[in-house]
Amino acid sequence: MRASAIGRVLHDPRGGSFRFDAGAVCLDFAHTGGEGRYAVFETLHEPADLGEWLAQPPLAAVMTTPVTARELTAAKALRQAIWEAAHAQAARRSLPAEAVATINRTAAVAPLVPELAADGTAAGWASPVRATQALSTLAREMIELLSGPFAARIRECASDDCPLVFVDTSRPGARRWCAMERCGNRHKLRALRARQAADP
Ligand SMILES: [Zn+2]
Repeated sequence: MRASAIGRVLHDPRGGSFRFDAGAVCLDFAHTGGEGRYAVFETLHEPADLGEWLAQPPLAAVMTTPVTARELTAAKALRQAIWEAAHAQAARRSLPAEAVATINRTAAVAPLVPELAADGTAAGWASPVRATQALSTLAREMIELLSGPFAARIRECASDDCPLVFVDTSRPGARRWCAMERCGNRHKLRALRARQAADP
């Protein structure tokens, strides 16, 4: 798991955007779009979109070979599996067998290979850097997450109408919201209005 959280800016198709940090890169990846009613949130339209996402920090995996259509399909299958497994874990349900199989299958191939610079200062990824390797790295992170000490800290946003999932790696472990600027503030505002209505 990464040492410092960065997160990503998510865009609402109805307008607006906010920074969301899912606490793990694999969980950030689960929020790049989805299936069914979440298809409107899709950000990975073309193989190049996946390459761009992977190239951003903290993964910073700049592809040496362009992402293929087949890799994009595999990426979306992994994304769905991570999404379903995270929600099952957050609800303390058993993990869906198909999601587990997809995560394991993706993790079975060689992952990204870390490389130290000659001066020992900067670590990057050894060439070649391919999407299948990056997906394997994400799948392995998800396996570590689900089988590690933070599994019990995987939560869905406490807002009733928000399905975003994250892992709370903070020391107090009291994170409730996907993002304070989104659901946290909405909740505070609602609580304030309820108090004002009750006590005019
Ligand atoms: Zn939320």
